[in-house]
Amino acid sequence: MDSRDEGPATEPGAESPLRADGNESCVPGEDSRDIIRINGITKVFGNAPPLTAVDQVSFSVRRGEIFGLLGPNGAGKSTLIRILTTLMMPTSGTACVDRFDVGRDDERVRTIIGVCPQNSTLDVELTAYENLEFYGNLLNVDRDQLPARIWELLKMVNLSDRAHMPVKTFSGGMRRKLEIVRAFLHYPLILFLDEPTIGLDPESRREVWQQVSRLNTMNTTIILTTHYMDEAEKLCHRIAFMNQGRLVALDTPANLKRIIPTGELVEIGYGNGHYDPGVIPRIQAREGVLGIEVHEQLLRISAKNGSQALPGILDDLEQFGITARSITIRAPSLEDVFIYLTGTGLAGGRTE
Ligand code: ADP
Repeated sequence: MDSRDEGPATEPGAESPLRADGNESCVPGEDSRDIIRINGITKVFGNAPPLTAVDQVSFSVRRGEIFGLLGPNGAGKSTLIRILTTLMMPTSGTACVDRFDVGRDDERVRTIIGVCPQNSTLDVELTAYENLEFYGNLLNVDRDQLPARIWELLKMVNLSDRAHMPVKTFSGGMRRKLEIVRAFLHYPLILFLDEPTIGLDPESRREVWQQVSRLNTMNTTIILTTHYMDEAEKLCHRIAFMNQGRLVALDTPANLKRIIPTGELVEIGYGNGHYDPGVIPRIQAREGVLGIEVHEQLLRISAKNGSQALPGILDDLEQFGITARSITIRAPSLEDVFIYLTGTGLAGGRTE
């Protein structure tokens, strides 16, 4: 993490190109609960034609929270993370990471952040211990304290018994956990995780989630990108929705779900049994029913209150000779909210 992948690294203390665009100071103001403040960050790639990967994005991340950047592939999440972790210069805008100005104080930014990139950078020929040792030296962790710190972290992720085995013998989940604690070697204030569970099986994903939560209880602010809505919902205190480079919404998962007018979704499966379309206007006319969709063998009814609407809906079905084989009442998911806001789904994402 010594150099940016685009353009020359900024000399410490040198006047940042960012300062030309903004005059935001990184000295914490009264609202010092914010550990990251982003103001109008934009990143444009190329010029034939130019591609705006991140478009005027502004938000703050609170100290100690797990903050999720959620959006489909290509939304601009990784680009934003690369800018915040000093790996890439923005085209315009400013960002403060704690007291340090991204683009101006990059060396100091790097001392307080840990980064776990999307693509693995472990040396698979080296053992777990050697990987951590190598990285610890790179991060200038005190040499006397490094062995104890390595064992502490290996223990934390249940890998102490594999400390001296080459990483190429590890499962995907084990590698990921090792990589996450590697980013934690130097006690960073902020941990950036880019798609931490991509490509992992459900059990490994859960183990990684546990690990992320554990690190968060140690007062570490965690910023993760994901296109898995279940992951964002389970882990994150607040979520920023990104789409086509823009910030679409930012709030707690519960508040995001309140954005769409539907209170609840009542899903009634009628299997291969009798179906009569005459029931639709009858249900539609009921008080508290907001809408109804007919799917194959399934009616999806939007209602202000699902359990209140259900008895009347079941009466209607009975009158039309339709037998309910399954009934589900659920709150709208984050995916429903994302579709409501953007008209597109989190393509490529999935739920368990
Ligand atoms: P996400 O992480 O949400 O999947 P990215 O930030 O990786 O999205 O990409 C956002 C957009 O920027 C995409 O259209 C991608 O192709 C483009 N992009 C990312 N990095 C580069 C680059 N180095 N050069 C040109 N285009 C890029």
